[in-house]
Amino acid sequence: MKKKINLFRESLRLVWNSSPGWTFTNIVMSVLRSIFPLILIWLLKGVVDVITKATTSAHPISDINVVWPVLAVVIVWFLDEASSDFSNYVRKKQALKLEIYMYSLLHSKSIKLDLINFERPEYFDCLSRATREAPWRPNSILNNMVSLLRGLLSLLLIAGLILTLNWTLAVLLLVANIPGIWLRLYYADILYNFQRQQTPEARKSAYFNWLLTGDRPSRELRLFGLGNYFISLFKQSFLKQKEEEINIIRRRTVIELISNLFKASALLITLLFIARQTINGKLTLGQMTMYLLAFRQGMIYIKDLFGALAGLYEDGLFIGDTFEFLNLKENVTAAEPVIVPSSLKKKIVVENLSFTYPGNNFTTINNVSFEIKKGEIIALVGPNGAGKSTLVRLLCRLYDPDSGKVKYDGNEIRNMDPEEYRKHFSVVFQDFMLYNLPAGENIRMGNIEEKSSGSKIKASATTTGIHDLINSLPNGYETVIGNLFDDSRELSWGEWQKIALARALFRDAPVLILDEPSSALDADTEHDIFSRFREIVKGRTSILISHRFTNVTLADRIIVLDKGSIAETGTHEELMKSGGLYFKMFTKQSSRFNK
Ligand code: ATP
Repeated sequence: MKKKINLFRESLRLVWNSSPGWTFTNIVMSVLRSIFPLILIWLLKGVVDVITKATTSAHPISDINVVWPVLAVVIVWFLDEASSDFSNYVRKKQALKLEIYMYSLLHSKSIKLDLINFERPEYFDCLSRATREAPWRPNSILNNMVSLLRGLLSLLLIAGLILTLNWTLAVLLLVANIPGIWLRLYYADILYNFQRQQTPEARKSAYFNWLLTGDRPSRELRLFGLGNYFISLFKQSFLKQKEEEINIIRRRTVIELISNLFKASALLITLLFIARQTINGKLTLGQMTMYLLAFRQGMIYIKDLFGALAGLYEDGLFIGDTFEFLNLKENVTAAEPVIVPSSLKKKIVVENLSFTYPGNNFTTINNVSFEIKKGEIIALVGPNGAGKSTLVRLLCRLYDPDSGKVKYDGNEIRNMDPEEYRKHFSVVFQDFMLYNLPAGENIRMGNIEEKSSGSKIKASATTTGIHDLINSLPNGYETVIGNLFDDSRELSWGEWQKIALARALFRDAPVLILDEPSSALDADTEHDIFSRFREIVKGRTSILISHRFTNVTLADRIIVLDKGSIAETGTHEELMKSGGLYFKMFTKQSSRFNK
């Protein structure tokens, strides 16, 4: 209970922070709206009484006596309607503010979280629950609390009114609604547990949906004729979740029907009682109208009140998912004493580094040690799955190792703020990003903080051989590349790779890492880049991962990785002489060309 109250408090804080002005207006409007129906009931009683008097009195009553009460009813009715429209606008506006605020919280958290989270399915479950609930659930808490307050207030007034008629009717009003509220609470638990348990299945159907509708899978899906296969997988997964949910809702609906019988009986008893009292002359027609309307309005208020209570109970269950995500801890942080790294002066040292991916039962990086001197060009080679890309991620501190350390100019990188530390690295990842944005912007993203950089962007593009193509686009460097938006121009994979290379070169980081940077480059561009490699990297410390041994030979030193361990290191000549794994891989590849 205490936990839930804390969650509610936190949620209300979020709602308030997102927009204090609109939140306040929303609350005021909600309270105002609860008062108008009561005034209307009271005014209607006056109208009926005046009309009854006019029709039964021997002396004619002037029209004026009827016009004023009717006018008052119309004015209050109009205010009620107008406040309802305005209140809808206020709610929408406030919900929008909250949505933006919550998305910015979710996104800020997501970009800060350790990369290792993205290796865990539980993380994606947690993220998908949070993104489903976060944009609207805190508002639901606020609205339910306001409804509760409003409902209580109005109910007290209505109950007071009904008490003047008969106290048993007031009790009846309350009791008739109890089965409904109990039902909602009971099923809130069932539905919450069901939905939580179904998150992996929901993600699975979202994945199949993406396979069927996404841009990337579209070509292979058509060529291999996989459409119907994925449609059946989607249906299977979707129905699995929805059928069970529908079953739960069906059971709830049947019981809800029974609970509505209680309310109908209460209504029957009340109507009969009021009718008898009126026939017996104990109530005027005006009073009869007032009590009938009051009873009906009371039922609405009670329904709202209990609905708000049940809603709050549901909110309490679901809002936990949002905070579960927002409270995830970042572990890749700067340990004390914090050191601010400056540009590499001497070397990077890797000592006994070991790392295992969560869920894997084998060590990906196994007790690896080596050093890289400032300005050196190191080639990292090895069979598929040897651990080369993983080692790069550890060097950039995208992951922290299980054991061992990386020292940057003698200081452990654990003592550095990861964001600050990563500023010293520029990387072309194997799976580099394609941004559907202007070509120039795609390159500037290497250092988004650098503003007036037109000539530097062009210089990077020229180095990687993509300048002429960009220049020939309809709007040159302003042309949006990719195929997602209007007036954009799609590039070939090799052209994208040149853009990614230009992006990495644009960043003035002291360490440059290129993970398979030329896999899609044509022979001319590849030759041009690698024959001028030293000139291009401009004395930066560089790590080159490549399966193309002709490119590897230019390195000052080659590190051969095999099954997560260093198999051998040396220059090309040394490794060729030693006749180990490098020699075997090199001769196998070159034999194909020499045939
Ligand atoms: P390649 O030459 O094919 O690019 P690599 O040497 O770069 O391979 P890594 O990508 O570092 O190899 O992968 C090393 C091992 O770690 C592989 O066996 C792979 O299955 C495992 N691995 C890689 N990424 C992940 C991940 N995100 N989660 C779990 N295991 C992973």
